[in-house]
Amino acid sequence: MNYGAIKSCDVANGPGVRVTLFVSGCRHHCLGCFQSQTWDFSYGTPFTEQTQEMLLDLLDKPYIHGLTLLGGEPFEPENQAGLLPLVQRVRQHLPGKTIWAFSGFTWEQLTGESRASGPNTLPLLSLLDVLVDGPFIQEKKNLSLRFRGSENQRLIDVPATLAAGQVVLWES
Ligand code: SF4
Repeated sequence: MNYGAIKSCDVANGPGVRVTLFVSGCRHHCLGCFQSQTWDFSYGTPFTEQTQEMLLDLLDKPYIHGLTLLGGEPFEPENQAGLLPLVQRVRQHLPGKTIWAFSGFTWEQLTGESRASGPNTLPLLSLLDVLVDGPFIQEKKNLSLRFRGSENQRLIDVPATLAAGQVVLWES
């Protein structure tokens, strides 16, 4: 897995001040995507053990609320495999931090039959607090929405959704 950028003090992609990782590779190719350079899986820098250590150090600050996974597409199968060990370490070593992820796949695609659904999908999903799901749709663009770009996208409370067996929206 490659990544395009890491933001150490991000206030735009989830509540509080967050560390955000932008992974490379996305096959959705949404019309109007503002970061098409990240579609390429080889864009940016290889994600290594040292990158994981750096992220854990960045997260381990009292003013950091949590980790956000962005792309590209964190739920492309290649990226799920790359992200799962990171998310497991964050949960193990920094249990007070929240973990958000943004995906162009819907919850139903990730948990049902789709090209994104594989052996790492549920293990990765089950470690998240919130999934912002669905592709960016230009006709549904709404700049007033919090933490999302188009009206079809949902802020999903992942633990509540898994417990209920149906999508439960996150409420701040
Ligand atoms: S899912 Fe995100 S990165 Fe991928 S094409 Fe759509 S907007 Fe761009």
